[in-house]
Amino acid sequence: MPELAEVELARRIWNGAEGQKVEEVHSHPAARIFRSTPARALSILENTRITGSARHGKRMFFTFDDQWYLEVHLGMSGKVYLAEKNYTSQKHDHLILRMESCSLVLNDYRMFGKVELHEEKVWENLPPDPISPKFNKSLVKRMVENRPNKVLKGALLAQELFPGVGNWMADEICWRMGVHPVTPLSKTSPESLYEHTKFVCKAAIKYVSDKNLAKGKPMEDLGFKAGGYVDEVPPKSWLFQHRWKKGGVCPKCKSLLERDTIATRTTAWCAQCQPIDGLV
Ligand SMILES: [Zn+2]
Repeated sequence: MPELAEVELARRIWNGAEGQKVEEVHSHPAARIFRSTPARALSILENTRITGSARHGKRMFFTFDDQWYLEVHLGMSGKVYLAEKNYTSQKHDHLILRMESCSLVLNDYRMFGKVELHEEKVWENLPPDPISPKFNKSLVKRMVENRPNKVLKGALLAQELFPGVGNWMADEICWRMGVHPVTPLSKTSPESLYEHTKFVCKAAIKYVSDKNLAKGKPMEDLGFKAGGYVDEVPPKSWLFQHRWKKGGVCPKCKSLLERDTIATRTTAWCAQCQPIDGLV
């Protein structure tokens, strides 16, 4: 599932149409992505302009005429494209916004993603995104104090605590903290959890979102596909580049990485750098 940095890249791709007017909305009304807002309701966006966008966690919000907010969630297999104006619809393209000089395309073959239209900036009332200044040391300290028995990996995956952090970012944070993913929060340092979460989230955006948009390609060629960037970024010094490789080793100590299911997700860690009883 796309995580915070991949969703940020997707937001920037569609945001390439900022200022443009929606000439036509095409949709597949029966598609499950319209389970929250019926596809026909999106016709209200015709003749409005994209006036901005925001990301919160794994959710994107596109603002139209400063009064409509279209939420797009990529789910498991969602992809967005900024395509040419006369783009020919492909299979699984469930939503296409025909703009003045381009088309915004949402393709999702598994349809765990969703589209929802809001009349308010709903993301402003959600728990702070890790990139936000509101995500601060005292917030993380309270989180830890209120959930002493919750395991670290499970806490990192909880979207009401760490919006946008998913499986690979959670593993990266645990590894950088030098803490085993099953460690209860009561035995972790809130300071370390805060620092490494901020670092991983900010750096992931730098490597995944900034670098992909800085390739010098026209926006039309930047169709977003989950995991499509992994051969290039983040750098080899990150756990990310080694965690799924057969015989993958820890970039710090070169020990063979361990893998198991923790908090319902396949988790990778280094037994040397993240001992089971290791306290911070
Ligand atoms: Zn190691």
